[in-house]
Amino acid sequence: MSITTAPPSAPSPAAEPPRGRSDLVIVGAGIVGLAHAFEAARRGLTVTVVERDWQPVGASVRNFGHCCVTAQRGDQLELAYRARAGWLEAAKSSGLWAREAGALVVARSATEMAVLEELRTERGADTVRLRTRGEVAAELGRAGGDGDIEGGAFLPDDLRVNPREAAPRLAEWLSIQPRVTVVWGTQVNGVEEGIVHTSRGPVHGDRVLLCVGHDLDRLYPQAAEEHGIERCRLTMARVVAPEAFRTDAAILTATSMLRYEGFTAMPSGPRLREEVTGHSPELLDVVANVMFTRLPDGTALVGDSHAYGSTAPPFEEESTSRLLLAAAAEVLGAGELRVTERWQGVYASSGRGPLLVRDLAPGVRALSVTSGIGMTLSFGLAAATFDDSLAATA
Ligand SMILES: Cc1cc2nc3c(=O)[nH]c(=O)nc-3n(C[C@H](O)[C@H](O)[C@H](O)COP(=O)(O)OP(=O)(O)OC[C@H]3O[C@@H](n4cnc5c(N)ncnc54)[C@H](O)[C@@H]3O)c2cc1C
Repeated sequence: MSITTAPPSAPSPAAEPPRGRSDLVIVGAGIVGLAHAFEAARRGLTVTVVERDWQPVGASVRNFGHCCVTAQRGDQLELAYRARAGWLEAAKSSGLWAREAGALVVARSATEMAVLEELRTERGADTVRLRTRGEVAAELGRAGGDGDIEGGAFLPDDLRVNPREAAPRLAEWLSIQPRVTVVWGTQVNGVEEGIVHTSRGPVHGDRVLLCVGHDLDRLYPQAAEEHGIERCRLTMARVVAPEAFRTDAAILTATSMLRYEGFTAMPSGPRLREEVTGHSPELLDVVANVMFTRLPDGTALVGDSHAYGSTAPPFEEESTSRLLLAAAAEVLGAGELRVTERWQGVYASSGRGPLLVRDLAPGVRALSVTSGIGMTLSFGLAAATFDDSLAATA
Protein backbone atom coordinates (compact mmCIF):
# COMPACT_ATOMS: atom_id res chain seq x y z
CA MET A 1 0.00 0.00 0.00
CA SER A 2 1.36 3.42 -0.82
CA ILE A 3 1.52 6.34 1.54
CA THR A 4 0.24 9.59 0.14
CA THR A 5 1.51 12.89 1.40
CA ALA A 6 0.39 16.48 1.55
CA PRO A 7 -2.43 17.91 -0.59
CA PRO A 8 -1.88 21.36 -2.15
CA SER A 9 -3.17 23.14 0.98
CA ALA A 10 -0.52 21.55 3.19
CA PRO A 11 2.70 23.39 4.02
CA SER A 12 5.13 20.99 2.40
CA PRO A 13 5.40 19.78 -1.18
CA ALA A 14 4.37 16.20 -1.90
CA ALA A 15 7.09 13.72 -1.01
CA GLU A 16 7.56 10.15 -2.16
CA PRO A 17 6.50 7.59 0.41
CA PRO A 18 9.55 6.20 2.19
CA ARG A 19 10.98 3.13 0.50
CA GLY A 20 12.36 0.58 2.86
CA ARG A 21 13.49 1.36 6.34
CA SER A 22 14.44 4.66 7.99
CA ASP A 23 16.91 4.99 10.83
CA LEU A 24 14.20 6.83 12.73
CA VAL A 25 10.40 7.14 12.48
CA ILE A 26 8.88 10.07 14.37
CA VAL A 27 5.15 10.18 15.09
CA GLY A 28 3.82 13.75 15.37
CA ALA A 29 4.81 16.90 13.50
CA GLY A 30 4.54 19.27 16.46
CA ILE A 31 7.65 21.10 17.62
CA VAL A 32 8.90 18.16 19.71
CA GLY A 33 8.76 15.73 16.76
CA LEU A 34 10.15 18.27 14.29
CA ALA A 35 13.03 19.32 16.57
CA HIS A 36 13.99 15.64 16.79
CA ALA A 37 13.76 15.31 13.01
CA PHE A 38 16.00 18.38 12.63
CA GLU A 39 18.57 17.06 15.07
CA ALA A 40 18.48 13.56 13.52
CA ALA A 41 18.96 14.94 10.01
CA ARG A 42 21.94 16.99 11.22
CA ARG A 43 23.48 13.78 12.45
CA GLY A 44 23.07 12.15 9.04
CA LEU A 45 20.20 9.82 9.97
CA THR A 46 17.35 8.96 7.62
CA VAL A 47 14.05 10.11 9.14
CA THR A 48 10.36 9.63 8.41
CA VAL A 49 7.88 11.90 10.21
CA VAL A 50 4.27 10.65 10.26
CA GLU A 51 1.55 13.20 11.11
CA ARG A 52 -2.18 12.53 11.16
CA ASP A 53 -3.18 16.05 10.14
CA TRP A 54 -2.27 17.91 6.96
CA GLN A 55 -0.27 20.56 8.76
CA PRO A 56 0.80 21.28 12.36
CA VAL A 57 -2.31 22.38 14.26
CA GLY A 58 -1.56 21.21 17.80
CA ALA A 59 -0.12 23.02 20.82
CA SER A 60 2.91 24.07 18.80
CA VAL A 61 0.99 26.60 16.68
CA ARG A 62 -1.40 27.76 19.42
CA ASN A 63 1.10 29.20 21.90
CA PHE A 64 2.97 32.46 22.53
CA GLY A 65 6.20 31.46 20.80
CA HIS A 66 8.06 32.30 23.97
CA CYS A 67 11.16 30.22 24.68
CA CYS A 68 11.07 30.90 28.36
CA VAL A 69 14.67 30.04 29.25
CA THR A 70 15.55 32.13 32.31
CA ALA A 71 12.49 31.24 34.41
CA GLN A 72 13.39 27.52 34.36
CA ARG A 73 15.36 25.86 37.10
CA GLY A 74 17.49 22.73 37.54
CA ASP A 75 17.45 20.19 34.68
CA GLN A 76 14.88 22.23 32.76
CA LEU A 77 17.15 25.27 32.81
CA GLU A 78 19.98 23.26 31.30
CA LEU A 79 17.68 21.79 28.62
CA ALA A 80 16.28 25.24 27.88
CA TYR A 81 19.75 26.66 27.21
CA ARG A 82 20.50 23.73 24.90
CA ALA A 83 17.17 24.35 23.19
CA ARG A 84 18.01 28.01 22.71
CA ALA A 85 21.08 27.07 20.66
CA GLY A 86 19.01 24.54 18.68
CA TRP A 87 16.30 27.09 17.86
CA LEU A 88 18.88 29.55 16.55
CA GLU A 89 20.48 26.82 14.45
CA ALA A 90 17.08 25.77 13.06
CA ALA A 91 16.23 29.40 12.31
CA LYS A 92 19.49 29.82 10.40
CA SER A 93 18.87 26.68 8.35
CA SER A 94 15.14 26.97 7.68
CA GLY A 95 14.61 30.74 7.74
CA LEU A 96 11.98 30.57 10.49
CA TRP A 97 11.49 33.81 12.45
CA ALA A 98 13.39 33.67 15.75
CA ARG A 99 14.59 36.68 17.70
CA GLU A 100 16.98 37.02 20.62
CA ALA A 101 14.41 39.48 21.91
CA GLY A 102 14.32 38.36 25.54
CA ALA A 103 11.45 38.74 27.97
CA LEU A 104 10.36 41.71 30.05
CA VAL A 105 8.88 40.93 33.45
CA VAL A 106 6.69 43.80 34.62
CA ALA A 107 6.65 44.35 38.40
CA ARG A 108 3.75 46.26 39.91
CA SER A 109 4.53 45.84 43.60
CA ALA A 110 7.53 45.82 45.92
CA THR A 111 7.12 42.05 46.38
CA GLU A 112 7.21 41.42 42.62
CA MET A 113 10.32 43.57 42.42
CA ALA A 114 11.86 41.67 45.34
CA VAL A 115 11.44 38.36 43.47
CA LEU A 116 13.23 39.85 40.46
CA GLU A 117 16.04 41.25 42.61
CA GLU A 118 16.50 37.84 44.25
CA LEU A 119 16.64 36.16 40.86
CA ARG A 120 19.26 38.68 39.77
CA THR A 121 21.32 37.87 42.86
CA GLU A 122 21.12 34.16 41.99
CA ARG A 123 21.76 34.39 38.24
CA GLY A 124 23.79 37.57 37.87
CA ALA A 125 23.16 41.06 36.55
CA ASP A 126 23.81 40.09 32.91
CA THR A 127 21.10 37.42 32.92
CA VAL A 128 18.50 39.37 34.94
CA ARG A 129 18.73 43.07 34.08
CA LEU A 130 16.66 45.18 36.42
CA ARG A 131 14.65 47.99 34.83
CA THR A 132 13.27 51.20 36.31
CA ARG A 133 9.57 51.97 36.15
CA GLY A 134 10.20 54.56 33.41
CA GLU A 135 12.16 52.07 31.31
CA VAL A 136 9.41 49.46 31.62
CA ALA A 137 6.69 51.97 30.75
CA ALA A 138 8.67 53.10 27.70
CA GLU A 139 9.24 49.51 26.53
CA LEU A 140 5.49 48.83 26.82
CA GLY A 141 4.70 52.05 24.98
CA ARG A 142 2.27 53.06 27.72
CA ALA A 143 0.27 56.11 26.77
CA GLY A 144 -0.49 57.11 30.36
CA GLY A 145 3.05 56.98 31.76
CA ASP A 146 4.28 54.74 34.57
CA GLY A 147 0.90 54.12 36.24
CA ASP A 148 1.30 51.53 38.99
CA ILE A 149 4.49 50.08 37.54
CA GLU A 150 7.17 49.55 40.14
CA GLY A 151 9.95 48.40 37.80
CA GLY A 152 10.84 45.15 36.11
CA ALA A 153 13.53 42.91 34.72
CA PHE A 154 14.70 42.18 31.22
CA LEU A 155 15.73 38.55 30.63
CA PRO A 156 17.97 38.67 27.53
CA ASP A 157 18.44 34.90 27.17
CA ASP A 158 14.77 34.26 26.40
CA LEU A 159 13.94 33.78 22.71
CA ARG A 160 10.92 34.59 20.60
CA VAL A 161 9.60 32.66 17.63
CA ASN A 162 6.38 33.08 15.66
CA PRO A 163 4.24 30.08 16.70
CA ARG A 164 2.08 30.38 13.57
CA GLU A 165 5.09 29.89 11.38
CA ALA A 166 7.79 27.98 13.28
CA ALA A 167 6.55 24.37 13.07
CA PRO A 168 5.07 24.66 9.54
CA ARG A 169 8.26 26.32 8.24
CA LEU A 170 10.48 23.74 9.87
CA ALA A 171 8.34 20.92 8.46
CA GLU A 172 8.51 22.45 5.01
CA TRP A 173 12.28 22.80 5.21
CA LEU A 174 12.72 19.28 6.57
CA SER A 175 10.59 17.81 3.81
CA ILE A 176 13.06 19.01 1.16
CA GLN A 177 16.11 17.59 2.95
CA PRO A 178 17.50 14.50 1.19
CA ARG A 179 17.26 12.16 4.18
CA VAL A 180 13.88 13.29 5.53
CA THR A 181 10.33 12.36 4.50
CA VAL A 182 7.34 14.06 6.09
CA VAL A 183 4.13 12.08 5.62
CA TRP A 184 0.93 14.10 6.25
CA GLY A 185 -2.66 13.01 6.71
CA THR A 186 -1.65 9.63 8.12
CA GLN A 187 -2.86 8.39 11.47
CA VAL A 188 -0.66 6.09 13.53
CA ASN A 189 -2.74 3.34 15.13
CA GLY A 190 -0.11 1.27 16.87
CA VAL A 191 3.61 0.68 17.18
CA GLU A 192 5.77 -2.37 17.71
CA GLU A 193 9.51 -2.93 17.52
CA GLY A 194 10.64 -1.57 14.14
CA ILE A 195 7.12 -1.08 12.70
CA VAL A 196 4.69 1.81 12.86
CA HIS A 197 1.15 0.80 11.85
CA THR A 198 -0.58 3.68 10.09
CA SER A 199 -3.89 4.32 8.37
CA ARG A 200 -1.96 3.94 5.10
CA GLY A 201 0.01 0.83 5.93
CA PRO A 202 3.21 -0.02 7.82
CA VAL A 203 6.22 2.28 8.06
CA HIS A 204 9.52 0.68 9.06
CA GLY A 205 12.30 2.16 11.17
CA ASP A 206 15.16 1.07 13.41
CA ARG A 207 13.98 3.45 16.12
CA VAL A 208 10.57 4.97 16.74
CA LEU A 209 9.84 8.15 18.69
CA LEU A 210 6.27 8.98 19.68
CA CYS A 211 5.96 12.76 19.98
CA VAL A 212 2.18 13.00 20.18
CA GLY A 213 1.84 15.25 23.24
CA HIS A 214 -1.35 14.67 25.25
CA ASP A 215 -2.64 12.13 22.72
CA LEU A 216 -0.29 9.51 24.08
CA ASP A 217 -3.34 8.16 25.95
CA ARG A 218 -4.93 7.24 22.60
CA LEU A 219 -2.03 4.92 21.78
CA TYR A 220 -0.60 3.89 25.16
CA PRO A 221 -3.28 4.59 27.79
CA GLN A 222 -1.40 2.79 30.53
CA ALA A 223 1.81 4.76 30.08
CA ALA A 224 -0.21 8.00 29.99
CA GLU A 225 -2.15 7.05 33.12
CA GLU A 226 0.96 6.02 35.02
CA HIS A 227 2.44 9.47 34.38
CA GLY A 228 -0.90 11.14 35.24
CA ILE A 229 -1.21 12.87 31.85
CA GLU A 230 -4.13 15.26 31.60
CA ARG A 231 -5.25 17.75 29.01
CA CYS A 232 -4.68 21.36 29.97
CA ARG A 233 -6.96 23.83 28.12
CA LEU A 234 -5.91 27.44 27.66
CA THR A 235 -7.87 30.48 26.52
CA MET A 236 -6.05 32.58 23.94
CA ALA A 237 -6.77 35.64 21.81
CA ARG A 238 -5.05 37.67 19.13
CA VAL A 239 -5.52 41.43 19.32
CA VAL A 240 -4.50 44.50 17.40
CA ALA A 241 -1.46 45.69 19.36
CA PRO A 242 -1.52 49.31 20.53
CA GLU A 243 0.54 51.38 18.07
CA ALA A 244 3.23 52.23 20.63
CA PHE A 245 3.70 48.61 21.78
CA ARG A 246 6.58 47.62 19.52
CA THR A 247 8.86 45.34 21.48
CA ASP A 248 9.55 41.77 20.35
CA ALA A 249 10.22 40.76 23.97
CA ALA A 250 7.68 38.47 25.65
CA ILE A 251 5.84 40.38 28.39
CA LEU A 252 5.32 38.54 31.69
CA THR A 253 3.43 39.69 34.79
CA ALA A 254 2.94 38.61 38.41
CA THR A 255 0.73 35.63 37.52
CA SER A 256 3.43 34.48 35.07
CA MET A 257 5.94 34.56 37.91
CA LEU A 258 3.69 32.21 39.88
CA ARG A 259 3.94 29.59 37.13
CA TYR A 260 7.71 29.21 36.78
CA GLU A 261 10.00 27.68 39.35
CA GLY A 262 12.76 30.16 38.56
CA PHE A 263 10.59 32.79 40.28
CA THR A 264 8.59 30.74 42.77
CA ALA A 265 11.78 29.27 44.32
CA MET A 266 12.97 32.75 45.31
CA PRO A 267 12.64 33.68 49.02
CA SER A 268 9.84 36.16 48.21
CA GLY A 269 7.98 33.58 46.06
CA PRO A 270 5.48 32.51 48.77
CA ARG A 271 4.79 36.15 49.69
CA LEU A 272 4.09 36.90 46.04
CA ARG A 273 1.45 34.14 45.91
CA GLU A 274 -0.22 35.51 49.05
CA GLU A 275 -0.21 38.99 47.60
CA VAL A 276 -1.76 37.97 44.26
CA THR A 277 -4.32 35.83 46.10
CA GLY A 278 -5.27 38.95 48.03
CA HIS A 279 -5.64 41.41 45.14
CA SER A 280 -6.55 39.20 42.15
CA PRO A 281 -8.36 36.03 43.31
CA GLU A 282 -10.35 35.97 40.05
CA LEU A 283 -7.12 35.52 38.07
CA LEU A 284 -6.04 32.65 40.30
CA ASP A 285 -9.52 31.07 39.95
CA VAL A 286 -8.85 30.58 36.23
CA VAL A 287 -5.17 29.75 36.90
CA ALA A 288 -4.12 32.72 34.80
CA ASN A 289 -0.73 33.53 33.41
CA VAL A 290 -1.31 37.03 32.08
CA MET A 291 1.28 37.47 29.36
CA PHE A 292 1.49 38.68 25.79
CA THR A 293 3.79 38.62 22.79
CA ARG A 294 3.82 40.70 19.63
CA LEU A 295 3.84 39.00 16.23
CA PRO A 296 5.84 40.40 13.31
CA ASP A 297 2.59 41.70 11.67
CA GLY A 298 1.83 44.02 14.60
CA THR A 299 -0.85 41.92 16.25
CA ALA A 300 -0.31 40.49 19.73
CA LEU A 301 -1.10 37.15 21.35
CA VAL A 302 -2.78 37.49 24.75
CA GLY A 303 -3.46 34.75 27.28
CA ASP A 304 -3.88 32.56 29.15
CA SER A 305 -5.90 30.49 31.62
CA HIS A 306 -5.50 26.81 32.58
CA ALA A 307 -8.22 24.16 33.10
CA TYR A 308 -7.33 20.52 33.61
CA GLY A 309 -9.12 17.27 32.81
CA SER A 310 -8.91 13.97 30.95
CA THR A 311 -10.75 15.47 28.02
CA ALA A 312 -10.92 18.99 26.60
CA PRO A 313 -14.49 20.31 26.28
CA PRO A 314 -14.66 22.73 23.34
CA PHE A 315 -16.65 25.46 25.11
CA GLU A 316 -14.88 28.67 26.11
CA GLU A 317 -16.14 30.98 28.87
CA GLU A 318 -16.31 34.51 27.51
CA SER A 319 -15.79 35.84 31.05
CA THR A 320 -12.34 34.17 31.18
CA SER A 321 -11.31 35.74 27.92
CA ARG A 322 -12.52 39.17 29.05
CA LEU A 323 -10.68 38.86 32.34
CA LEU A 324 -7.38 38.08 30.60
CA LEU A 325 -7.83 40.83 28.01
CA ALA A 326 -8.65 43.41 30.69
CA ALA A 327 -5.61 42.38 32.74
CA ALA A 328 -3.32 42.68 29.69
CA ALA A 329 -4.82 46.06 28.74
CA GLU A 330 -4.16 47.29 32.27
CA VAL A 331 -0.46 46.40 32.03
CA LEU A 332 -0.24 48.11 28.65
CA GLY A 333 -2.08 51.16 29.97
CA ALA A 334 -4.39 50.73 26.97
CA GLY A 335 -8.15 50.90 26.51
CA GLU A 336 -10.14 47.88 25.37
CA LEU A 337 -8.07 45.60 23.13
CA ARG A 338 -9.65 44.76 19.76
CA VAL A 339 -9.77 40.98 19.33
CA THR A 340 -9.26 39.52 15.86
CA GLU A 341 -9.15 35.80 16.77
CA ARG A 342 -9.86 33.52 19.71
CA TRP A 343 -8.88 29.89 20.16
CA GLN A 344 -8.32 27.16 22.67
CA GLY A 345 -4.90 25.64 23.18
CA VAL A 346 -4.43 22.18 24.64
CA TYR A 347 -1.24 20.69 25.98
CA ALA A 348 -0.19 17.65 28.02
CA SER A 349 0.06 18.25 31.75
CA SER A 350 1.02 16.14 34.73
CA GLY A 351 1.48 16.79 38.42
CA ARG A 352 4.25 14.16 38.38
CA GLY A 353 6.80 16.13 36.43
CA PRO A 354 7.37 18.17 33.31
CA LEU A 355 8.53 15.31 31.06
CA LEU A 356 7.41 11.84 30.12
CA VAL A 357 10.29 9.90 28.59
CA ARG A 358 9.41 6.24 28.46
CA ASP A 359 10.74 3.24 26.55
CA LEU A 360 7.67 1.24 25.53
CA ALA A 361 9.35 -1.55 23.58
CA PRO A 362 12.88 -2.11 22.24
CA GLY A 363 13.65 0.92 20.06
CA VAL A 364 10.27 2.57 20.79
CA ARG A 365 10.26 5.66 22.98
CA ALA A 366 7.46 8.07 23.95
CA LEU A 367 8.41 11.66 24.69
CA SER A 368 5.82 14.18 25.83
CA VAL A 369 6.41 17.51 27.54
CA THR A 370 3.89 17.47 30.37
CA SER A 371 3.88 21.13 31.32
CA GLY A 372 3.54 24.29 29.26
CA ILE A 373 7.17 24.56 28.22
CA GLY A 374 7.41 22.41 25.10
CA MET A 375 8.54 25.28 22.87
CA THR A 376 11.19 26.18 25.43
CA LEU A 377 12.59 22.66 25.73
CA SER A 378 12.01 21.15 22.28
CA PHE A 379 15.46 21.43 20.69
CA GLY A 380 17.18 20.75 24.03
CA LEU A 381 15.24 17.51 24.37
CA ALA A 382 16.21 16.56 20.84
CA ALA A 383 19.89 17.16 21.53
CA ALA A 384 19.65 15.15 24.77
CA THR A 385 17.85 12.28 22.99
CA PHE A 386 20.70 11.86 20.53
CA ASP A 387 23.53 12.14 23.02
CA ASP A 388 21.65 9.72 25.28
CA SER A 389 21.57 12.05 28.27
CA LEU A 390 17.79 11.91 28.73
CA ALA A 391 16.78 9.54 31.52
CA ALA A 392 13.94 7.24 30.39
CA THR A 393 11.72 4.92 32.39
CA ALA A 394 10.87 1.47 31.01
C1 LIG B 1 -2.00 28.29 24.56
C2 LIG B 1 -0.64 27.69 24.80
C3 LIG B 1 0.41 28.51 25.15
C4 LIG B 1 1.69 27.96 25.35
N1 LIG B 1 2.74 28.79 25.52
C5 LIG B 1 3.99 28.29 25.51
C6 LIG B 1 5.12 29.14 25.51
O1 LIG B 1 5.01 30.36 25.40
N2 LIG B 1 6.35 28.57 25.64
C7 LIG B 1 6.51 27.22 25.70
O2 LIG B 1 7.64 26.76 25.85
N3 LIG B 1 5.47 26.39 25.60
C8 LIG B 1 4.22 26.88 25.50
N4 LIG B 1 3.15 26.05 25.42
C9 LIG B 1 3.38 24.60 25.43
C10 LIG B 1 3.85 24.11 24.07
O3 LIG B 1 3.08 24.68 23.04
C11 LIG B 1 3.75 22.59 24.02
O4 LIG B 1 4.41 22.03 25.16
C12 LIG B 1 4.41 22.04 22.76
O5 LIG B 1 3.92 22.70 21.62
C13 LIG B 1 4.18 20.54 22.66
O6 LIG B 1 4.69 20.12 21.42
P1 LIG B 1 4.35 18.69 20.85
O7 LIG B 1 5.06 18.56 19.56
O8 LIG B 1 4.57 17.68 21.90
O9 LIG B 1 2.76 18.71 20.70
P2 LIG B 1 1.81 19.15 19.48
O10 LIG B 1 2.22 20.44 18.88
O11 LIG B 1 0.42 19.05 20.00
O12 LIG B 1 2.09 18.05 18.38
C14 LIG B 1 1.71 16.70 18.52
C15 LIG B 1 1.40 16.20 17.12
O13 LIG B 1 1.17 14.79 17.15
C16 LIG B 1 0.16 14.49 16.21
N5 LIG B 1 -0.43 13.20 16.56
C17 LIG B 1 -1.04 12.87 17.72
N6 LIG B 1 -1.43 11.57 17.69
C18 LIG B 1 -1.08 11.09 16.48
C19 LIG B 1 -1.22 9.81 15.84
N7 LIG B 1 -1.80 8.78 16.47
N8 LIG B 1 -0.76 9.67 14.58
C20 LIG B 1 -0.15 10.69 13.93
N9 LIG B 1 0.02 11.93 14.49
C21 LIG B 1 -0.44 12.10 15.74
C22 LIG B 1 -0.81 15.65 16.38
O14 LIG B 1 -1.68 15.79 15.26
C23 LIG B 1 0.14 16.83 16.55
O15 LIG B 1 0.44 17.46 15.32
C24 LIG B 1 1.87 26.57 25.24
C25 LIG B 1 0.81 25.74 24.90
C26 LIG B 1 -0.44 26.28 24.66
C27 LIG B 1 -1.55 25.37 24.25
